Amino acid sequence: MPTIRVAFYSSKHYDVDSFNDGVASIQSDVKIEFTYLEPRLSTKTVALAKDHEAVCIFVNDNADAEVLQGLKEVGVKFIALRCAGFNNVDLKKAEELGIVVARVPAYSPDAAIFAVGMILAVIRKYHKAYNRVREGNFLLDGLLGFNIKQSTVGLIGTGKIGLLTGKILSCGFGANVVAYDPYPNKEMAEKFGIKYVGLDELLAQSDIISLHCPLTPENKYLINENRIGQMKQGVVLVNTSRGALIDTKALIKGLKEGKIKAVGMDVYEKESEVFFEDGSEKVMQDDVLARLISFNNVFISGHQAFLTTEVCTMRYTLTNC
Ligand code: NAD
Repeated sequence: MPTIRVAFYSSKHYDVDSFNDGVASIQSDVKIEFTYLEPRLSTKTVALAKDHEAVCIFVNDNADAEVLQGLKEVGVKFIALRCAGFNNVDLKKAEELGIVVARVPAYSPDAAIFAVGMILAVIRKYHKAYNRVREGNFLLDGLLGFNIKQSTVGLIGTGKIGLLTGKILSCGFGANVVAYDPYPNKEMAEKFGIKYVGLDELLAQSDIISLHCPLTPENKYLINENRIGQMKQGVVLVNTSRGALIDTKALIKGLKEGKIKAVGMDVYEKESEVFFEDGSEKVMQDDVLARLISFNNVFISGHQAFLTTEVCTMRYTLTNC
């Protein structure tokens, strides 16, 4: 039986468990053999892919032009991203070199449900209540929330995750959901009661804004100081997509000025330096992240929206409300 050897970068114990189980359950004419590597893919670690036909990488592995050239030289023909976003791969260079790239086309419903949970957490202040009760403080002062039903939620991006998030918020919670997407899915959106508007209109109308678009060179800092200025006073912003969609310094300014009431973020623009590692015994070197963490109205998680046991096996169909 032919064997495909896969260099599996940035591996964690949960990856090893799920991929070994997954491969064991696949019936195929090809044997897949993983070499689990803890380091990230970079110019320094590209040589570890020698003698492998494929590499499997995650959100913070770097597959820029130089790394791709290195992969080509050691014989890699295929890159499998175990994530939906592909902002860390130079697709043009990969095509030039004849390296095939694949990604996970559907992380729904897990990431959509996580996004809805994050919206609830920040507007109903679950994170504050959790800390308070652990210290024996049952006061409700400072925990006043607001209702999704009376709110307008603006979705930026209505692909698989954005649409499902909109469906849950509209059909499940009764929110007024508006959306912006340069490639709208009018049929599905209409079924879920989601109304397409222009980006300027979305920014001006929304009480809560949730990001569900990919990070591309054009989308970097989609949410910048100007766009924050266009938002409602007291807007809530949630980002479960990619960190660099938001200019973090502008976000901090908006929080300090009170323009932004609360933030939920599962991703951060410089996350590759801190996320997926235990830094609890170290002094945090990233002053911007440290400032963000210091806000009591900011809820940060370490890129976990995708992380469920079912993610590899579940298929979800978008149907009517
Ligand atoms: P998708 O490809 O199905 O949909 C993305 C949508 O964004 C498309 O409809 C596209 O037209 C739209 N879009 C592109 N540029 C836009 C812009 N400037 N403004 C508005 N819309 C724009 O992707 P998906 O599966 O829904 O995932 C969305 C993103 O979520 C991924 O790209 C990934 O970065 C992120 N993600 C994060 C996690 C996590 O664990 N935090 C998990 C899965 C996905």
